[in-house]
Amino acid sequence: MADVFKNYIDGAWVEAKSGKTFENRNPANRHDLIGLFPASSPEDVNAALQAAKKAFARWRLVPAPKRGEILYRVGELLRRQKEEIARGMTREMGKILKETRGDVQEGIDTAFYVAGEGRRLFGETTPSELPDKFAMSVRSPIGVCALITPWNFPMAIPTWKLFPALLCGNTVVLKPAEDTPCTAVKLFEILAEAGVPPGVVNVVHGRGEETGAALVRHADVKLVSFTGSAAVGREIASVCGQQLKRISLELGGKNAQIVMEDADLNLALEGALWGAFGTTGQRCTATSRLILHRDIKKELTDMLVARAEKIKIGDGLDESVEMGPLINQAAREKVHRYVQIGRSEGARLLIGGSIYEEGKWIDGYFYRPTIFDQVTPSMRIAREEIFGPVLSIIEVQSFEEAIEVINGTTYGLSSSIYTRDVERAFRAMRDIEAGITYINGPTIGAEVHLPFGGVKDTGNGHREAGTTVYDIFSEWKSIYVDYSGKLQKAQIDNVE
Ligand code: NAD
Repeated sequence: MADVFKNYIDGAWVEAKSGKTFENRNPANRHDLIGLFPASSPEDVNAALQAAKKAFARWRLVPAPKRGEILYRVGELLRRQKEEIARGMTREMGKILKETRGDVQEGIDTAFYVAGEGRRLFGETTPSELPDKFAMSVRSPIGVCALITPWNFPMAIPTWKLFPALLCGNTVVLKPAEDTPCTAVKLFEILAEAGVPPGVVNVVHGRGEETGAALVRHADVKLVSFTGSAAVGREIASVCGQQLKRISLELGGKNAQIVMEDADLNLALEGALWGAFGTTGQRCTATSRLILHRDIKKELTDMLVARAEKIKIGDGLDESVEMGPLINQAAREKVHRYVQIGRSEGARLLIGGSIYEEGKWIDGYFYRPTIFDQVTPSMRIAREEIFGPVLSIIEVQSFEEAIEVINGTTYGLSSSIYTRDVERAFRAMRDIEAGITYINGPTIGAEVHLPFGGVKDTGNGHREAGTTVYDIFSEWKSIYVDYSGKLQKAQIDNVE
């Protein structure tokens, strides 16, 4: 008998009203059924939103430092259960244990960081232009927030959104990805145990097109915070545009690592391996293009191929495994389709390019680490997000050309350059069009106390994490207190 999981609405675990469910299976072994989850309808979404709306009236009045204390307790519980959650996450979405532990750690870091912000939700005071008048600006909560998240960071991404939203005094309904509902259930058990009052946090499971879309278009939702693909982001944005709803979007990437001829090649090698094949290439910040200066291209390519060929593929629960499966059958088909596209465009396949079905791994969605050489910037494999373990090598003749190539995609999330030349490093920091730039580090490795997000088609200008996330989840209000006892007209009474 499969385990049956529920939605969390108004402080209680409840089934979908229709009784319908969907399956969640282990991508390393499709015969391993993790459980059945509610396939929520618009009716379930409405119930969650009504609970959140009711709870908002009280939660917005809880002092921010108190809200922060609850989040601190959430952080402590996450820390206590880190290993168990990480193991469940690996079973659910395939990435190796080292990485799922990191994913939970990101949630813990966010909890402690955001908890402290409860005492630092600063506004501004400023002199008024008129006598006997006081002026200040404060942050106010927005209301009910809809949070829609992808499967590749099942703990980190929901917590990036949830904790700041709650700290600011909002209430929330989360719709987690269909492939990772179990980690969301764990998080909500912890939120309840930590003392988050009923209705303040709610989770509804289900498919994006049904459950997610119902959430987005509901009139009681005041803000949508979405992380996922650019295609879905565009759809959601058009609905929110019509309804004049606040929306923050964190979308795809086509990130690149540049390696100049003066770089430490061993360091660049480690960065490229981790950036391209970590999380099986399924990170929004994954390195999918490697831009190499011609003088070091052959040497670094040979080093890379030798190492990538030896990457141990398998079930991420085995500590010796270095790369897990892709998330599902559709993802593997998509990756394989792009490999065919790369070949037909004339790129040279150096390694991989095929499904990995050896030994006991026949029942998982494994794919070999894949490297293409002789890729040109106009090829589709150099422009479109593949979201798998596929790396495209592009040769350049100069620093200027490297910058032109790195900027030559519609996305702008993460970027990296390996060089020992301080002048080039600073030019790269200035000229690369991306939300994140690493010098002598891979394209992955964001920390929770810095802004996270991208330029161009990667988003709509917001930044999660850091101190910037509070601009997503709060409204600014300007307040004037006139204690002169008379009508004073700004811009009129004080002008000679
Ligand atoms: P996705 O867009 O398919 O799904 C994301 C979420 O949206 C899921 O919960 C899904 O159920 C929901 N959804 C789908 N259709 C919907 C609709 N019509 N209305 C409302 N909700 C809907 O993305 P994915 O495959 O889960 O994740 C991979 C993508 O996420 C990649 O493009 C990756 O780059 C991106 N991503 C971006 C960041 C970032 O911070 N920029 C982080 C992680 C992942």
